[in-house]
Amino acid sequence: MTTFIVLLGPPGVGKGTQAKIFSERSGLAHISSGDLFRENIKNQTELGRLAQSYMTRGELVPDDVTIAMIRDRINRPDCAAGAILDGFPRTPAQADALEVMLQEFGGQVDVVPFISGSEEVLVERLSGRWTCRASGHIFNEKFNPPKQAGVCDFDGSELYQRDDDKAETVKRRIQVYLEQTSPLISYYRDHGKLIEIDGMQSIEQVTQALLVALKKH
Ligand code: ADP
Ligand code: ADP
Repeated sequence: MTTFIVLLGPPGVGKGTQAKIFSERSGLAHISSGDLFRENIKNQTELGRLAQSYMTRGELVPDDVTIAMIRDRINRPDCAAGAILDGFPRTPAQADALEVMLQEFGGQVDVVPFISGSEEVLVERLSGRWTCRASGHIFNEKFNPPKQAGVCDFDGSELYQRDDDKAETVKRRIQVYLEQTSPLISYYRDHGKLIEIDGMQSIEQVTQALLVALKKH
């Protein structure tokens, strides 16, 4: 038995935050496509160089390289029981590729929580996001501040503000989400896998709503 959960929702709605909480509770691996790209950028790989040129503009990295990166990640041993996918798929072609990948694996996408939120709140959350250098722990200077400014509570590493969290790039990322990713809402609804979660509540309330909805599913 495997469990694959896809977290869907606009940039800044809280996918990464909830994925980390849920991964710790369930023991399922957390796969963040954005974190994988940022790791490649840090390690100065060829994929990192390619991805960076798209990420700084708020555009999507091309499907072929993104799909290959996720396939590699899903085939690692820590995903044997399944995973929580955060930020992938982001296009219908990626969603189709994921189905095929999981079939090879003997699994499938089991459930797709779609966390929704208003654009105004997304912009506010992203402008206050601070991310941990070592392993992508996520904070917010207003809504979820670290104990000590600029330092990760979990591993003591430096917190930084992502380059693509500046206002113009955030606007573009939301537009890209609406054009290229939002069609996945009806895709997964048609497959009977979508559960809708109101992302405009506190972090704890969203976690509770997610747990209740996942139990029911
Ligand atoms: P995503 O992965 O969807 O882009 P994140 O989990 O990185 O979103 O959250 C974006 C920012 O909003 C972070 O600074 C995070 O601390 C904050 N945040 C996440 N969920 C909530 C929430 N429910 N209420 C307030 N702030 C939140
Ligand atoms: P957010 O936390 O706002 O949801 P991510 O960290 O998931 O942002 O993604 C940051 C950037 O990485 C995206 O703007 C995009 O350039 C690239 N990226 C991440 N996931 C994908 C994907 N599945 N397909 C294409 N590009 C992606």
